[in-house]
Amino acid sequence: MKKTYDPLRDGISSVQYIDHMGSDLSVVDAARASFKKESAWADPVTFGDYSLQAKDAKLVKYLADHKHFMPFCHPHLSIRVTCPLFVARQLSKSQVGLSISEESRRYVDGTPEVYIPKSMRMRPDGSIKQGSSEETTTGYNERVRRSLRAAVALYDDMVDSGIAPEDARMVLPQAMYTTFVWTGSLQAWLRVIELRADSHTQHQTREFAYAIQGIVKYLWPVSYSAHFGEENV
Ligand SMILES: Cc1cc2nc3c(=O)[nH]c(=O)nc-3n(C[C@H](O)[C@H](O)[C@H](O)COP(=O)(O)OP(=O)(O)OC[C@H]3O[C@@H](n4cnc5c(N)ncnc54)[C@H](O)[C@@H]3O)c2cc1C
Repeated sequence: MKKTYDPLRDGISSVQYIDHMGSDLSVVDAARASFKKESAWADPVTFGDYSLQAKDAKLVKYLADHKHFMPFCHPHLSIRVTCPLFVARQLSKSQVGLSISEESRRYVDGTPEVYIPKSMRMRPDGSIKQGSSEETTTGYNERVRRSLRAAVALYDDMVDSGIAPEDARMVLPQAMYTTFVWTGSLQAWLRVIELRADSHTQHQTREFAYAIQGIVKYLWPVSYSAHFGEENV
């Protein structure tokens, strides 16, 4: 079967909200369980405009400052991420409080889609071992694209000739896209954001952390600002 489209794709990276459970009030109520108490929203008069009472917002800040993790483990968020394999590998190093279900190239055998870098960053100066500088080059674009296309074409040929997808996938590049459902507790997402929205993280991976950060800020604004500060809300 001949494939008629170019597997090299840009712009299919995505972080999609699927579902969530719990609010900032769930964090408060989990903490107040110690005293067998619950709280309530400050003024739930306007639909959708819920905010915590001042004493509860103060409690959330106290919990974050004193590393009382457990109340932040109750709210949960599920997202669907589509990203290149090398990004997925970095993201999935965060494991505690998170579950991943990923597409499998043992079952999926269609032409893979591949991330096209628009340019390549140069190594950083001096003694820094990891990362990249702001300086970029497009000098390798043509060769990179040729190489990615060749890898995908070889994969397609192998699958078409009857080789098992689980073996044929060995020739696929790290720039290939993958999709996974990722579910975790608010505590785990805060940790992912702390690590991966940081300047030490690879720039492509950081973009995904920023998208997750946007969702977490929206769903749990008080918990988010208790960890990262008001100026980041
Ligand atoms: C800039 C950067 C560079 C990196 N480079 C590399 C690299 O070169 N190679 C590499 O393999 N990884 C690398 N990593 C990944 C890194 O080592 C961690 O695996 C990843 O950041 C997830 O960390 P985590 O502690 O939040 O993970 P999680 O496993 O999700 O753990 C969350 C928290 O749970 C606790 N915890 C987890 N496991 C245990 C345990 N066994 N016992 C007690 N407490 C536990 C810790 O408090 C931990 O912080 C890098 C990460 C970053 C951000």
